[in-house]
Amino acid sequence: MKTYFKLLSFAKPLGKFAVPYILTTILAVIFGTLNLALLIPLTDTLFKADTNAIHSIPFPEFSLTLDYFKNIFSYYFNEIAISQGKFGTLKFVCVIIVSSALLSNLFRYISQRVMEELRIHTIENLRISVFNNIMNLNIGYFNNERKGDIISKVASDVQVVQYTVTSTLQVIFKEPLQLVVYFIILFKISASLTLFSLIVVPVSGLLIARIVKRLRKQARESQERFGNMISFLDEALSGIKIIKAFNATEFVKNRFNNENKEFSRLSRSMVRRQQLASPLSEFLGIVTVAGILLYGGNMIMNQQNSGLTAAEFIGYIAIFSQVTRPAKAISETFTQIHQGLAAGERVLELIDTPVLIVDKKNATAAAPFNSKIEFKNVSFAYKDRPVLNNVSFTIEKGQTVALVGPSGSGKTTICDLTPRFYDINSGNILFDGIDLRDLKADSIRSQIGIVPQESVLFNDTIFNNIAFGKPGATKEEVIAAAKIANAHEFIINTENGYNTNVGDRGAKLSGGQRQRLCIARAVLTNPPIMLLDEATSALDTESEKLVQDALNNLMKNRTSLIIAHRLSTVKNADKIIVLDQGRVIEEGSNAELLVKEGLYHKLINMQSFEV
Ligand code: ADP
Ligand code: MG
Repeated sequence: MKTYFKLLSFAKPLGKFAVPYILTTILAVIFGTLNLALLIPLTDTLFKADTNAIHSIPFPEFSLTLDYFKNIFSYYFNEIAISQGKFGTLKFVCVIIVSSALLSNLFRYISQRVMEELRIHTIENLRISVFNNIMNLNIGYFNNERKGDIISKVASDVQVVQYTVTSTLQVIFKEPLQLVVYFIILFKISASLTLFSLIVVPVSGLLIARIVKRLRKQARESQERFGNMISFLDEALSGIKIIKAFNATEFVKNRFNNENKEFSRLSRSMVRRQQLASPLSEFLGIVTVAGILLYGGNMIMNQQNSGLTAAEFIGYIAIFSQVTRPAKAISETFTQIHQGLAAGERVLELIDTPVLIVDKKNATAAAPFNSKIEFKNVSFAYKDRPVLNNVSFTIEKGQTVALVGPSGSGKTTICDLTPRFYDINSGNILFDGIDLRDLKADSIRSQIGIVPQESVLFNDTIFNNIAFGKPGATKEEVIAAAKIANAHEFIINTENGYNTNVGDRGAKLSGGQRQRLCIARAVLTNPPIMLLDEATSALDTESEKLVQDALNNLMKNRTSLIIAHRLSTVKNADKIIVLDQGRVIEEGSNAELLVKEGLYHKLINMQSFEV
């Protein structure tokens, strides 16, 4: 129920849709039922012995009851029967039937339209919320989630949810209303027959409840399976080279196919249940109709004084046969609602995931960087895996500080903490003397440029990839940035120059070219602080030199924190910080550290900092 109301909140403003929906539905139901009820006078006219025997009846007195309207109809019906004869009456009844059918269908169409509006509106809101929340989530969240599962939640589950909201409006309002109106008329025609037929409603209700009970669990499981499939697909596509190289296609195929089989098995079982609900209730309905035929037919044949004419009996059966339709609709929508709720839970999990890194209410925007970044006794753990232990160091404005240490010592982690991708467990990270947590995250990040080890490019043109961080950048600015990044040369040699598409994740470029585009991007945004995390480690010697030149250009007149695996890059740094197992164990210039003959000395002798 909680899930449901939460989903409903995305339908806001509900009143805008619910009110017209309810009004038009009431009208559609009334005229629809009227149509059937008109069968009674119709049959009456056709089979009545003689119109000459009809006498005038008095005009009914006004009262707000069903009988009043029925009497008015009878009055005019009577008048016409007297003045126009049998065929005239028939024409009169037919005109009324046609107009009421027209009205009922018109209102049904309008109510359906309102419903569709509501559905589309809800789904739009839901999708916006999900995507926005995903984008706001902290980086740490994505370490623990499958990308494919998130994709399937946004793409497929949201789609399933949409019918929940609209279907429930139908189930709680339209169909019950239709049933109630039918039963009122049925009671009017014959109370005893109706009491008898009422038995069928709870019986079929119970049966259907039993059938759909397990549906929600199965629906949820099948949605999870679907998420897995998308994950496997995503991994298979991005790793296709490695998969082929390791002859792992069979393994990958099996993994996907197993999931697919499981998904199909669940779908099959769910569909069987779903499909069972409606024929069952329909069959029960027919059984009741047969019972009524026996019971009521008997009443008429025995000429009992039941007050039931043949015409009324035919009308009764006609209306009753329609009772199964809303009952059937209710049972069908129940299965939809269960699936929708299961999907809704998954989507809401995403929406309700707390954004851990939020600006404090009184957070201020950071002023332009002007003195130093300071790590003060910083300790940090990924969940419960301690990674940094009491780390302290300072980066003065204009300095280049290098982080050095064996693999896994926490270098990347320090880089991620500086723009506050994660919050630390204890200690302080101070930006010009102010704790990061007291500043607006955006205002810090806009002053920090990052060139990561793996270049991140989007499937777009070279121009747009460079201009990514600075919307509205001019062609001249982009070219200037590309020149500083040593990228201009190769860009103009591509097929369409700056308009060349780089392919998925930049697949059409070499590693060094990709990296230089990333550097150009950082140059263009021109941040005062740069973080370079092994920006050259994935490159061959030649492109490394080009990229290194680009990086040197980038670091000019900036404050930089660099992680590098080459002595050449590190030795010119103003300060070198040596990390081991999450602790700072040495600190100083290249010369100072070499004299110490500590870990730095050892790493230098190995010619590579990566152990
Ligand atoms: P470095 O960049 O120095 O090689 P990292 O900062 O990447 O090291 O990692 C430091 C330690 O933290 C490693 O032992 C690694 O296993 C762990 N680690 C890194 N990222 C995560 C993560 N997202 N979740 C849990 N542990 C992590
Ligand atoms: Mg690293």
